[in-house]
Amino acid sequence: MRVAILGAGGLGKAAAQIVECKDETTLVAVADASGFVYDPAGVPAGAVAQVKVGGSVAELPTGQATEDSIGEIIRLGEQIDGVFLALPNLPNEFIPGVVTRFIEGGFRGSFVDALKRTRAMEMMFDLDERMRAAECVYLTGCGATPGLLTAAAALAAQSFVKVEKVDIWWGVGIARWDDYKATIREDIAHLPGYDVERAKAMSDAEVDSLLAQTEGKLTLHEMEHADDVMLERAGVIERDAVHVGGVMDTRSAQKPVSTTMTLTGITFEGKRSQHKFILGDETSMAANVCGPALGYLKRAHWLHQRGVYGVFGSAEMMPMVVK
Ligand code: NAD
Repeated sequence: MRVAILGAGGLGKAAAQIVECKDETTLVAVADASGFVYDPAGVPAGAVAQVKVGGSVAELPTGQATEDSIGEIIRLGEQIDGVFLALPNLPNEFIPGVVTRFIEGGFRGSFVDALKRTRAMEMMFDLDERMRAAECVYLTGCGATPGLLTAAAALAAQSFVKVEKVDIWWGVGIARWDDYKATIREDIAHLPGYDVERAKAMSDAEVDSLLAQTEGKLTLHEMEHADDVMLERAGVIERDAVHVGGVMDTRSAQKPVSTTMTLTGITFEGKRSQHKFILGDETSMAANVCGPALGYLKRAHWLHQRGVYGVFGSAEMMPMVVK
């Protein structure tokens, strides 16, 4: 599978490294805000990883500077089988707009994203008909949460005749916030008194001073997270019974709390119980987002090869293992 990654921030760089570890995938293109690199023989992930925050893949030997790197990737068309969108989604319309450009540009392949906001994902589902007409497959919400944990909830639901609630409590530790600027701004948008527009407009210095007030930690409750709409679509539970929150530590790579998905349900014998899915504390956000995203990209490509097109949520599909 020839893979293009849009966005070369924290997650884009990590995804490039995972693609390179695998035999079934070749990283052929990477795009960021200031340029892109294309190499059908394989873009070296190590060189992408070395691009500094604020730099661009345009600095690579085969890189090119441009103000419309996404347009350049769309023009590559048939040279690409699958696209991982590791772009910031600020505002909510940004990624749906990028995807619409691919459809209008005649791209005919597979996509995954790691979208987080419910509203943004609803916009993606609205593109289903256009995606089918364009003979594309789009799997949305394929990161960690939404993503791995949402799919785990769909699996856990099988033991129960009624699911009462799904609670997700995540912990992420990163050594520097600016390795993941979009992730942190999107998390800030969930704080009381903030929204997507306000978080997008914040300068780096303003983010620094906000984080300084809490020793680098963000604790978030009742997040507007698309796990809810995906589990509702998959028939697991109504969206109001899905609760997502967590703790982000931007000053230590160690997780502040273990990431846990707890599903509560009633069995056919009338017994109430819980299934829990706990991520290993040593696994990073990058591993838990980019691994599933690439597993889902393989599933999207698999569907595409079988002529099944459209937009699906990660709770409706199992990711495949990329060898
Ligand atoms: P980042 O800020 O580190 O990097 C973003 C990259 O996108 C940069 O390379 C930037 O140059 C590029 N970019 C920005 N605008 C662009 C444009 N117009 N054209 C081309 N490239 C452009 O981002 P990140 O922290 O790696 O996060 C990426 C996304 O992943 C975010 O939307 C975040 O919400 C999502 N995420 C999802 C999960 C999950 O579990 N679902 C977890 C973490 C992050």
